[in-house]
Amino acid sequence: MEMESLRIGEILRTGQPDESVKIQGWVRTKRELKDFAFMEVNDGSSMGNLQVILGKELPNYVEILKKINTGASVAVAGVLVPSRGVGQRIELKANTVTVYGESNPETYPLQKKRHSFEFLRTIGHLRSRTNTIGAVMRVRNACATAIHTFFQERGFLWVHTPIITASDCEGAGELFTVTNLDLNKIAQKETKEIDYSQDFFGRHAYLTVSGQLEAEVMALALEKVYTFGPTFRAENSNTSRHLAEFWMVEPEMAFCDLDGDQDLAEEFLKYIFKYVLEHCPEDMEFFNQRIDNSVLATADNIINNQFERISYTKAIALLEKADRQFEFPVEWGIDLQSEHERYLAEELFKKPLIVTNYPVGIKAFYMRLNEDGKTVAAMDVLAPKIGEIIGGSQREERLEVLERRIKELGIPAEELWWYLDLRRYGTVPHAGFGLGFERLVQFMTGMGNIRDVIPFPRTPLSAEF
Ligand code: ATP
Ligand code: MN
Repeated sequence: MEMESLRIGEILRTGQPDESVKIQGWVRTKRELKDFAFMEVNDGSSMGNLQVILGKELPNYVEILKKINTGASVAVAGVLVPSRGVGQRIELKANTVTVYGESNPETYPLQKKRHSFEFLRTIGHLRSRTNTIGAVMRVRNACATAIHTFFQERGFLWVHTPIITASDCEGAGELFTVTNLDLNKIAQKETKEIDYSQDFFGRHAYLTVSGQLEAEVMALALEKVYTFGPTFRAENSNTSRHLAEFWMVEPEMAFCDLDGDQDLAEEFLKYIFKYVLEHCPEDMEFFNQRIDNSVLATADNIINNQFERISYTKAIALLEKADRQFEFPVEWGIDLQSEHERYLAEELFKKPLIVTNYPVGIKAFYMRLNEDGKTVAAMDVLAPKIGEIIGGSQREERLEVLERRIKELGIPAEELWWYLDLRRYGTVPHAGFGLGFERLVQFMTGMGNIRDVIPFPRTPLSAEF
């Protein structure tokens, strides 16, 4: 009878001496002694490896030992025994070992030493076998699960907004075109202008940069919705915080104002950090020890402090009073720079804060104009060590005001006819926010480069794996 195999993480947590178990995984290290050998096996279910003892009495001992080099894949059946070594509670005494696939130790790119993240990016097909990237992927999974659980528990529907869209409303200028025009033919022609009416959709189409406008459509029918899907930006800047393909989370709520939006954002962040600490304690401990020693304190700070809430105008006043020079001079009307955000969250308040009511001139057309005519009902959540983590707003629900804003900004209103229709038929106050998923994982883990928190990063000149 074939024994069902267990995940190593489960064995390390709950395995008891004398239990018969089978495991499968990849060999991390092998150590040969006189009468027996050790190997450490990892199957991605935990940071810790399971130590396997291979006794000389094993059938084919010599042959197996030759095959189980770092990177080889194995199945081991045996009995759990208490570990005599430090750092582990239990180990596996092998009865049978099957080698699925060998590995050549001379050429296998992952050696026991520490590799740089830059190097690991060049072996994207293997890097998830390392401690750090494995831990990142587990925490990333926990974040995603927490996000879904949070919204599902509160009656939000997960809506799937399109990846291909025809509206470039934000005019971000960072769009990828989607086309099936014959580019070779176009290259041979002298034409200066591409005729998109001949293209697949009969118009210029793009990969989406955000699902917000479509989420608004759904919220004005289903009340509480969220998107969680890929978005794309042809960011030309090579930074440690920008990807060309990243995942975005965007809740949208009808019958909700800026206060309700702030409440949701605060509850949301606390929930996710708490969930991850509970579900990935070992990985989070690892990040705190090896990647950034403020990771646990930051999580604790977010979970246990009530977020401060101040207006943009107040934030500017506080920055003007600051006992220091900023690189970007402070005056009412500027967009807050990362140095300003970090000063407020990290040094002044020493906890997360939400800044609201930004100048109309620096925010998007759909944000609701305040009574003063100078500010909009926008909010940014700023966190120590992190800076901006969430951006959101109450949306402009008044048709005339929205039409005026669109005109002022020179946005082609005809393309937004359906968005304006939402204000013509049964408009309601509504609000939402956006969270860059990889930024969240970065902040959660302390990973310095966003390329290392997504399995297959897309950045300028790089889409190999
Ligand atoms: P930034 O100023 O950092 O470029 P943004 O103002 O362009 O951000 P938004 O348009 O508000 O960002 O997008 C919502 C969220 O998506 C941001 O808060 C951020 O977390 C995330 N985000 C934006 N651009 C990227 C990107 N290129 N790669 C990964 N995440 C991104
Ligand atoms: Mn940007």
